[in-house]
Amino acid sequence: MAEQRKKKPASGAPAPGAPGREVRRAAPNRGEVDRPAAYESLIEKRSGLSELLAPVAGFGVTFANMFKPTVTEQYPREQVPTKPRYHGRHQLNRYADGLEKCIGCELCAWACPADAIYVEGGDNTPDAQFSPGERYGRVYQINYLRCIFCGLCIEACPTRALTMTNEYELAGPTRPGMIWEKQDLLAPLRSGQLAAPHPMVEGTSDTDYYRGQVTGVTDDQVAWVAEHRPDDPTLPENAAKGAKVPDLGETRLAQRAITAGAHRQGGAR
Ligand code: SF4
Repeated sequence: MAEQRKKKPASGAPAPGAPGREVRRAAPNRGEVDRPAAYESLIEKRSGLSELLAPVAGFGVTFANMFKPTVTEQYPREQVPTKPRYHGRHQLNRYADGLEKCIGCELCAWACPADAIYVEGGDNTPDAQFSPGERYGRVYQINYLRCIFCGLCIEACPTRALTMTNEYELAGPTRPGMIWEKQDLLAPLRSGQLAAPHPMVEGTSDTDYYRGQVTGVTDDQVAWVAEHRPDDPTLPENAAKGAKVPDLGETRLAQRAITAGAHRQGGAR
């Protein structure tokens, strides 16, 4: 029985004579083989007292920091201003006369690696001119549950319509409330600006707007808004009477109310 058993090849070695397997033979010994020299550290060896104190030296960093002022920010009790170039929530900017800079090109949405931006463009018409040129951003949404604040959308925007503010308090108690609409993202109207839609400054093109050659509203634009929206709070006559221009969109107002309710119940900070 023992003679009938075939000898097993050594682990990893092919069976002698097995089909399709190359039989390798050990290379003949050709004399001395170069061996790497033993490892030698380039760090100088310590000796005496220095060697004794080496383990303690690491604590030097700890002791040195124990007497420095603490840098822990006591958020939310104290709100420390961010660095100027901090990537906070987005803002859709306006030109000096109040027209929107966004042209609805969707480049920001395509650039977004998290697929957090949704844009639908629309056509400007003589009765509803929201931005200089042919197109404007009819629908604009940013999903702050997805946004990673990388800023690639800002780089992609051809009109500098989209920038990022330093605002970072974006948490909210509801999922729908984290999808910000165009009205939530539009820059608040400054004094002297007219809410869109209204015609462009007479005799200008969209290129003039891009080049910063429009510096404010004209009498013709004010007259057009007065005729079409006499109650518009951004009209100078209404502003003089104390008409309030809303600076928050509906989503943000609703979110603020829900958060305030949660605060009262102790459900949020
Ligand atoms: S924000 Fe800029 S990139 Fe995005 S759709 Fe508007 S114009 Fe295009």
